[in-house]
This record gives sequence, C-alpha cells and structure tokens, in this order.
Amino acid sequence: MDIAGQLHTVFGFSSFRNNQQEIVEAILAGRDVFGVMPTGGGKSLCYQLPASLLPGVCIVISPLISLMKDQVDGAIAIGLDAAYLNSTLAQSEQQEVMARLQKGECQLLYISPERLALPGFLQRLKQSPLSFLAVDEAHCISEWGHDFRPDYMALSRIREEFPDLPLAAFTATATRKVESDIIRRLHLADPLMVRASFDRPNLFYQVLPRRQVNRQIEEAISKHKGEAGIVYRLSRKDVEKSAAYLSDRGIAALPYHAGLDAGERQANQEAFNRDDVQVIVATVAFGMGIDKSNIRFVIHGDLPKNMEGYYQETGRAGRDNEPAHCLLFYSPSDFFRLRFFIEKQGKQEDREAGMRQLSRMLQFADQARCRRKAVLEYFDESYPQENCGGCDVCVHGTEAIDTTVDAQKIMSAIYRTGQRFGASHVVDIVYGAKTKKIAALGHDRIKTYGIGHKEGKGYWRTVIDGLLAQGLLAADGGEFPLLKITAQGEEILFGRKDFIHRRVLQPQKELQQEVQGRTDYDRELFTQLQTLRREMAAAGGVPPFVLFSDRSLHEMCRTYPENEAEFLAISGVGKVKLQEYGEAFLSVIREYLLEHPEIEKVRSPVVEQERKRGPARKDSSLSDTLNETLTMAKEGMGIEEIAASRGLKSMTIATHLEQLFERGENGLEISDLIDPDLLEAISNQFTVHGPIRLKPVVEALEGQVDYNLARIVRGYLSGKKSVKEEL
Ligand code: ADP
Ligand code: MG
Ligand code: ZN
Repeated sequence: MDIAGQLHTVFGFSSFRNNQQEIVEAILAGRDVFGVMPTGGGKSLCYQLPASLLPGVCIVISPLISLMKDQVDGAIAIGLDAAYLNSTLAQSEQQEVMARLQKGECQLLYISPERLALPGFLQRLKQSPLSFLAVDEAHCISEWGHDFRPDYMALSRIREEFPDLPLAAFTATATRKVESDIIRRLHLADPLMVRASFDRPNLFYQVLPRRQVNRQIEEAISKHKGEAGIVYRLSRKDVEKSAAYLSDRGIAALPYHAGLDAGERQANQEAFNRDDVQVIVATVAFGMGIDKSNIRFVIHGDLPKNMEGYYQETGRAGRDNEPAHCLLFYSPSDFFRLRFFIEKQGKQEDREAGMRQLSRMLQFADQARCRRKAVLEYFDESYPQENCGGCDVCVHGTEAIDTTVDAQKIMSAIYRTGQRFGASHVVDIVYGAKTKKIAALGHDRIKTYGIGHKEGKGYWRTVIDGLLAQGLLAADGGEFPLLKITAQGEEILFGRKDFIHRRVLQPQKELQQEVQGRTDYDRELFTQLQTLRREMAAAGGVPPFVLFSDRSLHEMCRTYPENEAEFLAISGVGKVKLQEYGEAFLSVIREYLLEHPEIEKVRSPVVEQERKRGPARKDSSLSDTLNETLTMAKEGMGIEEIAASRGLKSMTIATHLEQLFERGENGLEISDLIDPDLLEAISNQFTVHGPIRLKPVVEALEGQVDYNLARIVRGYLSGKKSVKEEL
C-alpha cells in the first residue's frame, strides 16, 4: 500500500513526523500499538491513515462528545468517510450510522466509551466488518491518570470479545505507571511501543514578574493582533475580572469557568472555537474538550498548581506546530495562596504530594534556568542542547547580580521587627511607607526604615522573592505568611556570605519577535485569508481550523500560490481541500497580488522557478473546475443542483460563481439567480459594510439571504465595478 502517496494526496503533507510512519506500518501489519506523543504530535493521522487504506471500519474511542464532532468534521474535510455515534444524534440518525457500520460503509467511526458499554453494543460490533480499534486519550482508562473515566473500563473487555482485532492506544500524558496500567487494562499484546519526545519546539516559554496583571495581559495580547489565545486564571472571580478588563479595552474576550451555567459555558467555548472571539479567559476547567489548532498564545495570570497542569495548559497552544507563546506571570504571593489551599486538604499524603509539586512549579518559575529543560526534566527527559533558543532564559540571557547589601537591608528589617510580619509590611518599612500599622508599631523608628525609598516597592518585593526561592527566608502560616530568616539566611545577614541573584534580562527589541511568533508572512494577506476561512467555515458549519490550519495560511502568505499546482504544494492541502476551497483562496491571493505588484521580489525562489517554467496560466483563462461550473450554470442549473451533481459543497459552487461574475463576460445573468429587489437590498448592505466581510450583510438581511447568495452578489458587484473603472 502506498502510504506516502496517501499522506500526500489525502492529508496534503510531504513527510511523516517522527514516529508516525512506524505506527502506521505496524497498524497496517495488524500489530497492537501503544503511542505516547505530545499534544500536536499528530496522533490522529496515525490511525486515520491506516483506516483510509484498510478494508472495514476503524472504531475510534474518544472521550468527549464535543471533540468528536470536530474530529469527524476534520476527517470529512479531507475526504475521509467518517461518522460518529453519540447521544447528540437523533434516534433515526443513530440507526442510520449503525446501518452504515454494519455494511462497512465508513472508514472511521468515532464512539464514546459509554456507547461501547451499552448492553448489546459489542454484539452489534461483532456483526460489522472492522479494521482495527483506536483508543484516543487512552490515559482516561487509568485511575492514576489525571482524567480517569470509569466508562473507559468497558474497554477492558474488547480484547476478550475481539481476540483478533488489532488495538492501537494513544495518549499525550503517561507516566510509566499510567503507561503500564493502560497496557494491562487493554490487554495489548506485544504492542509496538512508541514514546515521542515531550518537547514542543514551537512553544516559546516565558516567565515575567507579576505587577498589574490585567494590564500586563492586555499588553501581551496586543502583540498578537487577530490571533487566538487562552488566558488562565486561578479563581473564578479573577476570570471574570480579567475578561471584563479585556472586553472594556476592545479585546473580544469571554469567560469560562465551572460557575457559569452549562449553556453559557458551551456557547463561549463554541465562540472561541469558531474564531468569533479572540480570547477565552478561563480556569483550568477549560481545555479538555478543545482541539482548536490555531491557538497562538497561552497566558497564565497565576502560578499553576503543578508542572503537569502547566504542561497540559501551555500544550494547547500551537497544535499546528506553528510558533506560539506561553507566558506566565508569577508573583510569590501565588505560592502562599496555593499552599493555603493545599494545607486545607484532608489527607496528609495529599498535602505532602501537593506541596512537593508546588515547590517544583515554584522552582520552574523562579529560577533563571532554561524553561524547556525544566519542563522536560519533569517528564524524566533530558534536553541535549545547551541553549534551547525558545525560552526567555536562553534567548534573552541572564545576569548575576550581587544583591548582598539589599538582602541585608530586607533581613535587617525582618530581624528588628521580631520576624513576625509578612512581606508587604516588610517592604513598607524598607520603602518608608506611611501606613497606620507602621505608625502604631513604631516601625518608622527602626534603622532600615525608608532606606530603600528610591528603588520602589516592586524592587524590594523581588528581593524577597529571590531570598524565598533560595531558602534564605522562610514563610510560615496561612494565606498571609510571616517571614523568618533561615540559618542559611543568617549567613548573609551577618556578612559571612554573598547573595547572588540571577535574573533574566529584559528582551531586546530585535528579539521581541521571537516571542510574538512568526512574522515572516504577509500579515495583510493573512487577515484576508483568515476572514475567508472564517466565513467559509461558518457557511459549512465547521470550525475554521478544520478548513485550514494557521500553518497552511501562513504558508500561503509566504509563497503566494496562484494556481492549483502551487496550491497543492501548501502543507495541509490534499486533493479534497483543493477542490473545495482552492478556487476561493486562489482568487483572493491572485487579486491581492494584482493590487501589490511589488510583492514579486519576496516570492520564494522555488515557487518563482516553477512559475517561470510552466506556461503561467493566463489570468483570463478559467480553470477546469470553474469551467465546469460555468457550463452547468449556463444550462440553468441552480447552486444546489450543480453542487449535488458535481459532488461538491454548495459553498464551493458559490465561490465559483462569485469569481465568474467578478470576471464578467461569461454569459451569466445575475437576474437568473436573484430577484432584483433583493439584489438591490444586498448591494446597499455591501455599500454600508464594505465588500470584505459577508457576515454583516447576511446578518443585516437575516433570513432573506444566505452566505452563498451574498457571496455571488459580491462577485457581481466587484465585476461591475472593475468594468466601470476600465471605462
Ligand atoms: P494530537 O492529536 O497528537 O494532539 P493532531 O493529530 O491533532 O495532534 O495533529 C496536530 C496537527 O499536526 C494537525 O494540524 C495535523 O494536521 C498536523 N500534522 C499531523 N501530521 C503531520 C505531518 N506529517 N506533517 C505536517 N503536519 C502534520
Ligand atoms: Mg488528538
Ligand atoms: Zn531554554
């Protein structure tokens, strides 16, 4: 079987990622597989590709109903025969799917573990021709995993009931304990074991001291104009506050936390998924049910509880493997807050484990040491390179500062007040603040009062952070702990040792872009293609990333494909996507190039060569697919009819007609397609809203016009306009 050909024509990729090929080959050979690959590692392809080649139906177990639909939409969008079976389907639809299953009429069937557990379901499966069974998010079967799902237990029976059916299990998280649990419970027999690196090279990790968190978040987002991202906050209250703050400043943001009712939560997630809002502000409750690949940043406004959580949450960025930014705002007060929660837990061992994990997290945030190394070490993986080139520490560099004298000033204030006060009071003393507490206690009379006025309170806070992180100060008791000087700390206070603080340097201007991600693509064109992607997705009822990933769009905005061959060369474009969306995207790009003749120079040499070699298609000649639509339209067939007879989506036909009208002189009459009054109404709306976006026009004329019609009229108007301009 030609797996490379399938990879290219169906998935549109030129090569396999690490590990994918051996997994695909093992499945095709009928062997069990156990694959641990990080988020974005490309697990779906590992089972989708064999499913597309093997006879029979591949059953995919997937834990979340909300993910299932997106995954099936994604599979269908590349031309796979996929379906899902869950409780969101009407009874009759379920029966239809079951009938297809039993006749072996689909390649992939996604089901939930609950479904598998239903009485009689396994019996029905037995009467169906199956190719193999893939278990996605396989860690859900383990009680040791972080999202154990009792329903996954039903999977234990599969091997017994289907001794000959190959099983393939995939997960993005597996400690060794979880790993052996999965293998045991699924009864995998001598599986091909693949463990990919947990490194996510496209993620840039950065930690900044937290000052005014909402302002800092806003500033970070302003560097990601038009790009989607998640902001994580610890408490529901802070989620609400940050979301409101961002909205007030014109950033489209919605909250998500367990305190919202299910309907609102669902709606907000959906809006984010569909790029209708730029940002979702959420507690850690958000993320499991999301497969959105074009998340360009994940910001943590507070310190996460543990490294596992941090890795999972940041891992949601950049699934498309394009650069993405993971930014953590950290203040040592988080430590106290989290410790306070941990100490409230009932069991001693939970408290101890919680504290161990928290101090690991604290080390990560506080040490000026490669973040990537720290993340990977958590997963027992060592990172070979000296400089990872993808974190603030490695990219911006660090400096060692001798802070002995300042440390002594702080410690002296602590010492002289009897080690009975918290960080903010100590800072107030050194800074020389005039608070009631200071006056009442007479702390304005101690020697260090006001000694550090000119450095500012924030500075003194960081000195305390540094001392705490190195164990020179200890903090005890409750949510607002008291600072104490440790034995090691006394060495510094009494001048027997120096206090060297290592800190990350501020980014230089030219390095700023590393953090912001890729800038080597045409942003203006990107915005146009993004809009087109969103509109075509809305019309097709799927999320935008199902049409094309950011990676594909970025590539289009670097290489400017002008014809089908060039379009096919874009990563992620297979033959079905070319057919469905090629013309629409190509026409925007061609038009853009006409408006920007200067772009010629930045074309990539490869594309340029190809352009020169092949006789470039003259602008006036129509592609085959356009011609076919034109012929049918001239015969008087409507959009739906053409779509049905060509086996394409009606939206695709509408994009053809849009272009045909735009080019004019094609023998088509707009009046054959639309009533003159409606035409005028739509034209007026385009005058009001401009020609770029269809959505406002469709919304203004709600119920009278759909995206297809609006699109065609837009083509017609633009054709008229260019005739006028020529005259
Ligand atoms: P996972 O399930 O492991 O988190 P996905 O299967 O969702 O990852 O894949 C992540 C992204 O990587 C998707 O956008 C997918 O299209 C892309 N991808 C997968 N395999 C390849 C490949 N061989 N070449 C390029 N992109 C790939
Ligand atoms: Mg996946
Ligand atoms: Zn690094």
